[in-house]
Order: sequence, then C-alpha cells, then structure tokens
Amino acid sequence: MAGIVVIFDFDKTIIDCDSDNWVVDELGFTQLFNQLLPTMPWNSLMDRMMSELHSQGITIKQIEECLKRIPLHPRIITAIKSAHVLGCDLRILSDANRFFIETILKHHGLMDYFSEINTNPSFVDEEGRLRIRPYHDFTSSSHGCNLCPPNMCKGLVIERIQASAFTGSKKRFIYLGDGKGDYCPSLKLNEGDKVMPRKNFPVWELICGNPSLIKAEIHEWSDGVELERTLLHLINMIHIENNSSNLVQLLSGDCKFETIPISTHETFPKVLPVPH
Ligand SMILES: [Mg+2]
Ligand SMILES: [Zn+2]
Repeated sequence: MAGIVVIFDFDKTIIDCDSDNWVVDELGFTQLFNQLLPTMPWNSLMDRMMSELHSQGITIKQIEECLKRIPLHPRIITAIKSAHVLGCDLRILSDANRFFIETILKHHGLMDYFSEINTNPSFVDEEGRLRIRPYHDFTSSSHGCNLCPPNMCKGLVIERIQASAFTGSKKRFIYLGDGKGDYCPSLKLNEGDKVMPRKNFPVWELICGNPSLIKAEIHEWSDGVELERTLLHLINMIHIENNSSNLVQLLSGDCKFETIPISTHETFPKVLPVPH
C-alpha cells in the first residue's frame, strides 16, 4: 500500500469552473444571484437559488443536464485513475454540494475512485426542489475558525482525516486546491506532506504571502497537464522516500546482511559478434 492520502478540492481544481456559478449562469439566474450575494452566506444563497430555479419551473433533470456539460480536463481524469492505480486513497473536500459533485463524477465514471466526499449535504424535497444544507450547522454553533466560511472549515475536516489516518500506519498527505477555503487545510498539513496550490489563484497567493507558515512542501500547478505531471511525480517521490526509509530501518535493525556470491560466468550474457 502506498500510504498516501490525496485530498482534492472540487471547484476549479477537479473541474475547471465553479459548479455553483456554472449552474446559476447557464440557467440564466446570474443577475438575481449577484443581487442577493451581499445579503447572505454563499451556502444559504445556493439553497435560495435552487428554490428560485424550482419556482421558475426548472427541474432536477435540467440541473443534472446542466452539470453534465461542465468541462473536465482529460488529464485530470487520467491523473485520478493513475493515482488510484498507484494505491492512493483519494478523497474530496469541497464547499460545493453532494448533488452537484456526485452528478459530475458519475457522468465521468469517476465515483468509485474516491473513498470519501466531504461536502455540504443536499437532498431533493417532496416538491422536487434541490435543498442545500451547510456542512457545519452554523445556526446552532460556530466552528470557531475565522479563516473559513461559517458553513465549512476545511481545516477541521483535514484534522479529522489526519486523526483517523494516524490510527493505522503513518500516512502522507497531498492536498490540491485553488480557493481561499483551501488555505486553512494547507496550514494543517505536516512535514512530509505536499500541498498543490493552483498558481495565481487565491490559495496560492495566500501561501506565497508567507510560505514559512506551511510545513508541507509546496508544488504549484496551472492546468490539467501540470496537475497530472506534478501529482504523479509527488506520488513517485513519496514511494521512493518510503522505500529508502524502509531500507534504512532494515539496515539499522538486527538483521545481518550476507554477501551474496556472484557467479561471474552467469552474471553477464556474452555479447555475440554481429556477423557482417
Ligand atoms: Mg475550489
Ligand atoms: Zn478553517
């Protein structure tokens, strides 16, 4: 087993746009969205927008079809599949919602590659309206983190994943994200972990503002091609580091190495002269 947990943000990381904005814009509700945005938290606004869509006769089926049109870079699909083949435990940590994420992942045949999706819960009510709830119920108590929006502190989720991962053998984490909300979890990563902020996006700017606050190694990326190349490179590096530390443990342990005699006549095949 690789012992590597790869945690992906979703919007502008796995997909290239923001799924909330995509649905609102594609279905023609941008103006209302912009009008209401200053009046309530984003998560509550998305629930409200789903009510507005429903009252204008837009069905769940239409929302699904709209989500399926979101472009997904082919190299991100291969990156996910390769990381899975290499034995990594893949998870999603997103401030979108379960309905949007699952619709998109299923459409691209990617659902089974992820062991966990941490996001805002959603359900279709008896009137056929999509309801979106906060991951953290901020009406009853605050999560207490001032870096994060009231409905979700991704740092707290990372801490929970770290705690569960450390009960087994030691795990290494790779975190990929783009947004402001990805800064808090980046701060929670430890030495030996890797963070992959999307270059020129808010989390990259926050990290670059004071890189000494980040204990994980920082590896930026810009697009699907770079995401795939960087992620697979880091997975390989961790494999090599893990294997060499196993070897160091072995060498410093009790076991004695015996010199294996090499029978010279078997070692190298004879090179036959090529007839002219
Ligand atoms: Mg994002
Ligand atoms: Zn936080």
